[in-house]
Amino acid sequence: MIRRFLTAAIAAGFFLSVGAGAQTKLSTKWEELTAADFRQGIQQSKGTCLLPFGILEKHGAHLPLGNDLINVRYATTQAADQEYAMIFPEYYFGQIFEAKHEPGTMAYSADLQLRLLQETTDEMARNGCKKIIIVNGHGGNESLLPFFAQSQLNLPHDYVVYVLLGERSRAGGPAKKSTGVDYHAGENETSNTMVARPDLVHLDRAASESGADMKRQNLPQELYTGIWWYARFPNHYSGDGSVARRELGEWNMKGWVDTIVECIRAAKADDVSQKLQNEFYEKSKHPLDTRP
Ligand SMILES: [Zn+2]
Repeated sequence: MIRRFLTAAIAAGFFLSVGAGAQTKLSTKWEELTAADFRQGIQQSKGTCLLPFGILEKHGAHLPLGNDLINVRYATTQAADQEYAMIFPEYYFGQIFEAKHEPGTMAYSADLQLRLLQETTDEMARNGCKKIIIVNGHGGNESLLPFFAQSQLNLPHDYVVYVLLGERSRAGGPAKKSTGVDYHAGENETSNTMVARPDLVHLDRAASESGADMKRQNLPQELYTGIWWYARFPNHYSGDGSVARRELGEWNMKGWVDTIVECIRAAKADDVSQKLQNEFYEKSKHPLDTRP
C-alpha cells in the first residue's frame, strides 16, 4: 500500500513540489546556505552583505555578555527579511579594552581587530559581497569602524565598506522613565533586549549596581583620554535598566530595523561610491599629475 502510494506520489511530482516549496525562500544567513544557494543569494542581494558587529562584555548586573551581538543580529535579521541581503555569521572581535577589568570580556589587540576585519571583508568581497554594510551594535566600536572605513583608501579595493554606527534611540515613542545618561545596559538597551531575548534579561538584578555617572575626571570636554569611560562608569553600567519595558524596546528596535532596511536599499542603489574609489585609487598613483 505504501509502495503504491509512493509510486503514485512520485509520478504526480508530489515530493518534488514539497521539496521545492521548502526551498523557495532563501535564508539570509551565510552559514545556512548551500554553496549553490550562496551563489543565488549573492545575485538576489546584488552583492550587498551585512556584517552585524557585536562584542562580549559585561552589561550591568542584569544583561548577558553577548547583549550587543544578540541585539544587532536580531535587528539585522529582521531588516534582511524585509529587504534581502546576506548576513555574515557571528562577529564580535571589536574594541573593548575598557571592560578588561570585568569577567567575560574578550578584548583582542588593536592590530588583530583591524587585520581580522580587513581579511573578513576581503574574503567576503572575494565571494561576491561588493557592498558590505557593517552594522554596529557596540558603542566601543564607534572610533574603530570609521577608521577602518577610512583605511580602505590606502590600497585599492573592488568593494565598498559602509558603516552604520547604530540607532540607539529615536525621538518620539514611549516616554522614558530614567533621566540622565543612558549609554550602556540602561533603560534603552535593556528594553531592546526585552524584545530580542527577554529570557536573558534579569530585571530584578538591574538595581543591584549603580549605573550613575561618577564624574571622576575633571577635564575639559574636548580633552580625550582612554580612561574616560572607566572614570565615569566603573561598573561598566550607564543608566538605569530597572525601569526598562518592552514597549520602549519595540519602538527602538523598529527604528533600528527601518534604518537598516533604508541602508540596504541605499547600498543596492549606490553606483557612485565604487566608481569614485576607482578614480581616487588611480589618481593617487600619480598625485603630481592631478588637476582640479
Ligand atoms: Zn551594549
